[in-house]
Amino acid sequence: MNLPPPPDKAPLLQEVTASLSAMPDPAASGHLRRFEDEAAHALGTAHAVAVSSGTAALHAALSACGIGPGDDVLVPALTVIMTVAPLRALGATPVFVDSDPATLDLDYEDAARKVTTRARAIIPVHLWGRMGDPGALAAFASEHGLAVVEDAAQAVGTVRNKRLAGTVGTVGCFSMKDGKILWSGEGGFLTTASGRVAEHARAFRSHWQPAPPGEAPLSRLATNSRLAAPLAALALANLRRLPDLIERRRAQTRYLLNALERVPGLTALAPAAGEEWNGFSPLLHIGLPSPRAFAEHLAQQGVPNSTGSFRLVPCDTRPPFPRPEQPCRGTAEILDHTLAVVLAEGDTQATLDHYADVIAQAAAAWAP
Ligand SMILES: *Cc1c(COP(=O)(O)O)cnc(C)c1O
Repeated sequence: MNLPPPPDKAPLLQEVTASLSAMPDPAASGHLRRFEDEAAHALGTAHAVAVSSGTAALHAALSACGIGPGDDVLVPALTVIMTVAPLRALGATPVFVDSDPATLDLDYEDAARKVTTRARAIIPVHLWGRMGDPGALAAFASEHGLAVVEDAAQAVGTVRNKRLAGTVGTVGCFSMKDGKILWSGEGGFLTTASGRVAEHARAFRSHWQPAPPGEAPLSRLATNSRLAAPLAALALANLRRLPDLIERRRAQTRYLLNALERVPGLTALAPAAGEEWNGFSPLLHIGLPSPRAFAEHLAQQGVPNSTGSFRLVPCDTRPPFPRPEQPCRGTAEILDHTLAVVLAEGDTQATLDHYADVIAQAAAAWAP
């Protein structure tokens, strides 16, 4: 098995050069418009709105769903702090929901126990590109009258039961930070079928100017979270390579998991039935003693991974939030036992061979 070389980068240089020759351009609209039109087309949604980060996309999306002070928003503890920060910025309260170690999907029994009369929205997070059951999500949201804001930052291209990640809910939020599959250095965008949500997001990213139809410009306080022109050019060029970028990540993940197939104590996590996973991060169950220490040891040995390198812990236990009465145990179990290797487009076969060697040797010698 051989890993093909990464897709050609020449188109990126062409688009960025074109955007530079039009700068400075306060309207900065050319590449941005084209990116939004083509992103909406590529994802099969009516609207896409580009912003400066995935965090900003979540912020604009939650604002467009009317989330504000006094509202509760259900969010899995199995996520990064970036999912939760924008809802706190809007004055809402996160209600952390557990996840099921057998599926990585939301634990809907826990969600049903925790849903309050103040709950207005739920944020499913497709962590590591893995997507929960869209039917279960839609049923839960409609039963409880919740808006669905998907955090699809890592999930571009994942499909489950023929539903594309980011197009299941009211709004889908994507990040284009380097390291995500579709990247522009920094950046993000949201997708929605709702013209009203898209107009709100366009106003919100630019201090309510232009305002949505029927409203006065600057009549509300908002943010500057516009995407800079050269980054919109990068985003556009990468969007046109998106099928190749997804195939690249899938091939890298297949390659590494294949190389680790017979390592004792490590078992690849398979996607669900009906899930076409984007392969965001090779995922392995760590069946060794002190599994989190093993992931940290690998990080020290130069194999970047979610828990070892980035100290990913259940979000309900993080210091900004009150200490939970009942911590999300399923989430802790998932994070303690999952090795999620962090990949980049430029990682070559030699990089992955090196990772595989380090992981196999560390597992064989592991005596914590
Ligand atoms: C990257 C990421 C974000 C935040 O995106 P930024 O562009 O870094 O602001 C949010 N949620 C998840 C799951 C992410 O991976």
